[in-house]
Amino acid sequence: MNSIRLSLVALLCVVASSIADAQQYMAKEVARSDDNSWSVEDVGEGVYLFRWWPGFYVSPFVVGDDAVLAVDPVSRDVASLYRAAIASVTDAPITKIVYSHDHRDHIVGADVLSPDAEIYAHPGTLASLERRGDPDIPKPDVLVDNGDSINISGRTVGVHYFGPNHGDSNIALSFETGLGSMLVFVDTLEIGIVPYRTLPDTNVQGYIASLRGAAALDVDWVLGGHSGPGPGVWIDNYLNYFLDMERALIKAEAETVEPPSESVEDVIAQGERYTDAVIARAIDELRPTYGHWRGFEAWAPLNAQTVRMYIITGN
Ligand SMILES: [Zn+2]
Repeated sequence: MNSIRLSLVALLCVVASSIADAQQYMAKEVARSDDNSWSVEDVGEGVYLFRWWPGFYVSPFVVGDDAVLAVDPVSRDVASLYRAAIASVTDAPITKIVYSHDHRDHIVGADVLSPDAEIYAHPGTLASLERRGDPDIPKPDVLVDNGDSINISGRTVGVHYFGPNHGDSNIALSFETGLGSMLVFVDTLEIGIVPYRTLPDTNVQGYIASLRGAAALDVDWVLGGHSGPGPGVWIDNYLNYFLDMERALIKAEAETVEPPSESVEDVIAQGERYTDAVIARAIDELRPTYGHWRGFEAWAPLNAQTVRMYIITGN
């Protein structure tokens, strides 16, 4: 499938998901590449959204009086497109880049996006980069934590850290837009979409605590790294999803009978059949409320595997 067809599919998905929201986001597109691989939307007050359609990524950037702050370069290839996208709406230089979290699929390519920019990130992101030694990710110059703010020539970006969640270094960013206040919580909040697969690198208890922290901010809009913006109620939607998942798994565990086993091999085989039955029962319980979220049938059972391990281990 070529990239133009892919972007049409992506566009239709976004339109369909935004129709489902009570408070609809109406995209004001101000730029698009000839090959439809990227577009830019203006959300007002100097805030723009860069979308890279073939990979379903979205990164916000904030244009101040004479400088730009950009969130997450994504990859070296995407960063060059992101740079062109920003140049399509402003001549101001990109002087600040913020890494949302330490995951490689969001933060490679800052040197391509703007080689001289100051890079901001949570201390946990620096710790990961030092531990991993990623040769292709420039290290942050400035460490930011909960309660900090980043100034970008006349505009302010708030920094929030609620502890570990989708990773242990995720910061949420807040700013005013023409639509109201907006919170960006990359990969931790994805609007209209079930969390990704087996919740890689996730601290489930911390995720629930982080969503409670984000809910207390009372923002008008939320943006993920792959979806949105959607109305602020999506923080509660995600919080309820995890709490309901935990309850459904505990209930399913109590209602499912595990037959006795006669050998170690049998313990493993019976245990797997039992686990499958518990997961299926819990997913049946969640389907009436969450079955319309994109990815539910594929990913909710995988989410449940990880949440069940959290229930069993306590971590
Ligand atoms: Zn991530």
